[in-house]
Amino acid sequence: MIERIQVVGAGGRVGSAVSARLAERGLLLDSDEPELVLLCVPDRAIAEVARGIAPGPWIAHVSGATPLAALDPHGRRFGMHPLQSFSKARGPEQLDGSWAAVISETDAARARGFWLAETLGLHPFELDDESRAAYHAGAAVASNYLVTLRHAAGSLLEAADVPPEALDPLMRRVIDNGFELTGPIARGDWETVERHLATIREQLPELEELYLVLAEATAAIAGRRRPSDTVSQGSVRSAKVCRTIPELRAELAGRDARSVGLVPTMGSLHEGHLSLLRAARAECDTVVMSLFVNPAQFADPADLGRYPRDEARDVALAGEIGVDLVFAPSADEMYPDGFQTWVEVTELGSTLEGEFRPGHFRGVATVVLKLISIARPSRVYFGQKDAQQVEVIRRMIRDLALDVELRVLPTVRDADGLALSSRNTLLSAEERRRALALSRALATRDPAAARELLTDSNGLAVDYVEIADFDPPVLAGAVRVGDTRLIDNVPLEGDNK
Ligand code: AMP
Repeated sequence: MIERIQVVGAGGRVGSAVSARLAERGLLLDSDEPELVLLCVPDRAIAEVARGIAPGPWIAHVSGATPLAALDPHGRRFGMHPLQSFSKARGPEQLDGSWAAVISETDAARARGFWLAETLGLHPFELDDESRAAYHAGAAVASNYLVTLRHAAGSLLEAADVPPEALDPLMRRVIDNGFELTGPIARGDWETVERHLATIREQLPELEELYLVLAEATAAIAGRRRPSDTVSQGSVRSAKVCRTIPELRAELAGRDARSVGLVPTMGSLHEGHLSLLRAARAECDTVVMSLFVNPAQFADPADLGRYPRDEARDVALAGEIGVDLVFAPSADEMYPDGFQTWVEVTELGSTLEGEFRPGHFRGVATVVLKLISIARPSRVYFGQKDAQQVEVIRRMIRDLALDVELRVLPTVRDADGLALSSRNTLLSAEERRRALALSRALATRDPAAARELLTDSNGLAVDYVEIADFDPPVLAGAVRVGDTRLIDNVPLEGDNK
């Protein structure tokens, strides 16, 4: 059909494989009078190169993304896009067995496009010029995003001290097996999925969103839904709310629970709380969330009064995550008339936060001990966000030989670095902007530099910025922005979360 072909861009990745194959087929490549000029140049150069070619011969490009109009003013034209990823390190055999899109406007162009593809050893198929974007997006997902997935999967293996190359035969076999879906989502094993999520949140939080999106998409393929969407094992998930101590105890007694996880909160839940709840869900048979704005840890009644509360939303969120029981007692239930027994972690409870909020940790330790006594958890969950609170609870568990494991999860932050806190909802937009100075200052991991940054920042009153010898040691700080007091810290050892 065609005997004389000129390849422009024969040194490139596609051009070198194509030229080598055409040479093997004995097609004249260096002809002065080509019947076909094949443009194997970068996409952005196609239009300019095409304009520089005198009208006459057929002209074609090998781009997946570029419309035929780029070949103007030529009328005898087509596109032929090999659906393959090419490497200069390999030869024409890269073409063998690959498919190729032929984009044409006339029968004559279509015939030439099919002939070229078949001559190169490709399987041609027709593609509309208008459908290119969808086609090319599909190709990019299959090839480029496979690389992205390999990176993501590789970093998870590295986190487990396993060489990432171990994944490669697995990935190849999935393709060889015709992309048959196996694994936890295909089986409907959501507990394993939650365990994956818990570890990703702890070790590689930047992968959480990707994992979730892929899990949802995979669930759709498997014809299953994640239980947090609607149902689990046939029943709608909702957390049962218990208001009294006997009620909670009765609920717990009625459950065949090998392990109970307790997540103490003051409500107004945000992603920080949710990370603790998800970890508890993944690790325990029964999850209890307490929802109690503990008056004993507020010295200032005004501060207690303005603390944000939204029980209905909190209970709904807890239910979505799979919390079994929400313990939401009244103040009288926790501190009945005549209450006079307090837990005081003396030294740890009187520095830093303890100095600025006298009695705060006495209130915290007392309520946490009481919650542990009521729910009898095997694990209690706290956030590193409140590093001193963690230290106080750890000390109390040791000193009183409490039979409970302390689980501490990393601080969850907004994209701009501000640590999530229920109190953030009390900030105006302007205050929130100023509050950012705290996380930025602590990120220096240097108390002097942090203090300097905070002193310079407009309108923040600094209570303290100090290194605290906790486990791990942290640079901790507390500031007041308007009427709102915020605390934050960065670990100085470990994974720096
Ligand atoms: P609160 O409701 O403020 O008493 O917090 C309940 C639990 O959530 C505590 O263990 C906090 O340390 C934890 N928490 C609060 N904010 C965050 C956060 N941004 N990241 C991780 N945990 C948090």
